[in-house]
Amino acid sequence: MRTARSFDLHTHSNYSDGTLGPAEVVERARRCGVELLSITDHDSTSGLADGARQARTLGIRLLPGVEINTNSDKQIHILGYGIRADSGVLQEKLKDYRRRRAARVEKILSQLRDVGLEVGLSDIEGVSKESWGRPHVADALKKKGYVGERQEAFDRYLTLGKPGYVASFGPSPAEAITTIVEAGGAACLAHPGIVRGGLDLHGLKALGLEGLEVFYRSHTRVLTANLKAQAQALGLLMTGGSDFHGPGTGRADIGGVDFPAEDAQILAERFFSLCV
Ligand SMILES: [Zn+2]
Ligand SMILES: [Zn+2]
Repeated sequence: MRTARSFDLHTHSNYSDGTLGPAEVVERARRCGVELLSITDHDSTSGLADGARQARTLGIRLLPGVEINTNSDKQIHILGYGIRADSGVLQEKLKDYRRRRAARVEKILSQLRDVGLEVGLSDIEGVSKESWGRPHVADALKKKGYVGERQEAFDRYLTLGKPGYVASFGPSPAEAITTIVEAGGAACLAHPGIVRGGLDLHGLKALGLEGLEVFYRSHTRVLTANLKAQAQALGLLMTGGSDFHGPGTGRADIGGVDFPAEDAQILAERFFSLCV
């Protein structure tokens, strides 16, 4: 039997809501035995240059990536792989999405102040190099002693129905997919296991979706097998990753996502030539 290979196509650096710099993410991936890595920051590709430099030094393959959160209340996030980060159109779009993220964070902070929590922009600024999000608000609440962990902040204040909840200002799933495809990338649906409600994979494929994140740290074996069958039936590429965010975030460590050899081979054929 051929052995599984260790790929991790879903990680975050401190250019969005991760806690490590891109070079440190690459270093950690190398230590964990990851052979193919993608850094997929939210609405930002600015960490890729540092990551690529370190990847070349350490001899690890780095696939340019990005993750775009959509305005769907189902938690639809679209990963983009092999995107041309030097595309002016892509960068204008990502800049707009980041501006919308900042506006959302300001609204969340204002709602939290309305219920007596003293958190302001000064508690958020400088934490992320580029792209703000709810995890930064959670960290600010933790720093101020209102909660013990990021997750507690989400559970008590930041999710649907809670006082600090503000719906995403992101693009529609159709726009997110188009943004990635027009920048030469492969658009893949992130963590389908945590998408809420029914999942219309046919519809997303018609919009240009190429792959599905079948292998994900929190997917059970049964769910993974089910997603694999759906991906095969629709001819979708099977991707996977840890959604690593770095130490202190309460999330999974990097790597640990093993691809069956035949699935790894298909991914290698699609992505190795796009690595930097
Ligand atoms: Zn996501
Ligand atoms: Zn992610």
